[in-house]
Amino acid sequence: MTGISHRQARLYIQAALDDLVSQREQKTLEEHLKTCKICQAYSNELSGVTINLQQTFHTRWDKQPTPTGPMIENVLSRRRRILMSNRLRSAARILAILATLFLFALVTNYTIHRLLPAPIGKQPLSTIRERSHQHHYPIYLARQL
Ligand SMILES: [Zn+2]
Repeated sequence: MTGISHRQARLYIQAALDDLVSQREQKTLEEHLKTCKICQAYSNELSGVTINLQQTFHTRWDKQPTPTGPMIENVLSRRRRILMSNRLRSAARILAILATLFLFALVTNYTIHRLLPAPIGKQPLSTIRERSHQHHYPIYLARQL
């Protein structure tokens, strides 16, 4: 036995099934398999399982081009439920955002009204009087300032 350990060889065998080994790794694996009966058996077993799985999937696929059946139905309904709850959650989020925007608009509106001078007609008479007094304007002129 040269190169790699059994553990490493098994990792390579698993990776090789998914075409995830480099050429160099493939070579060291083959070297190991040549000399190691245990890993060879493991490799055969594993590729056998893979081929079996592929065949099973193919026969099922060929039998049922549109996948139905209780398991898939179950998966689909669960998926639908998740989608529904996601939709509800995002609707709630949108409502929360709208409420926040509305509140913000209210507060902004209120603040602006407080900061800006009131329209002439709505200014309290005391303000107008004070202004006319400060600038020595007659009341009717101060009203228009
Ligand atoms: Zn080995």
